[in-house]
Amino acid sequence: MIIKDARFIASNTQVDKCPETELPEYAFIGRSNVGKSSLINMLTNRNKLAKTSSFPGKTQLINHFLINESWYLVDLPGYGWAKVSKDSREKWGKMIKAYLGRRKNLVCVFVLIDSRHEPQNADLEFIEMLGTMEVPFVLVFTKTDKQSSVKTDQSMAAFGRKMRETWDELPMMFRTSSAEKAGRDEILDFIEQTNNQ
Ligand code: GDP
Repeated sequence: MIIKDARFIASNTQVDKCPETELPEYAFIGRSNVGKSSLINMLTNRNKLAKTSSFPGKTQLINHFLINESWYLVDLPGYGWAKVSKDSREKWGKMIKAYLGRRKNLVCVFVLIDSRHEPQNADLEFIEMLGTMEVPFVLVFTKTDKQSSVKTDQSMAAFGRKMRETWDELPMMFRTSSAEKAGRDEILDFIEQTNNQ
């Protein structure tokens, strides 16, 4: 897919206020600092479409971007901030559950995972929630340029093994490096293929 046009449409704290549309949408989420903003900017070929590294305490927003006038890319607030209050965590949970449960045009959630780390509970718990809510998702292993390809293979395998404890089937897995623009075509092809169905 060639990205001809990518523009910011709206930021919301409430799912009911998100753009009314029948266009398909794809959401991106992950632990703080996983490289989500960098990935969104890499995919859309824009330097500053998604703002990098928002900090805890800042309002958590659902950001809608319209791509090629034909689908929405949604930047969801991340999880796993070490210092976030219980109150913010609860707010985040409510917002995300409402979004995942009510957004009818949501095709797939991209769950970003830092390829350098061992399986993290925050990621596994979020994935369990997606499973319970029956929301389709794929995994994206980020920052692969920071280590050897073998190490990334090992992280992905370890994550798969951990998931196998509760899942019968493993989701699709992508590997990306925003620094090297790797994995871009694979993700955009996936979006193109699933959004015409
Ligand atoms: P976010 O908090 O998930 O939106 O993460 P950011 O996109 O702001 O990235 C967090 C940090 O990781 C920043 O310092 C980025 O420059 C860095 N980063 C993100 N993606 C990559 C990548 O693919 N390779 C490398 N080497 N660094 C990355």
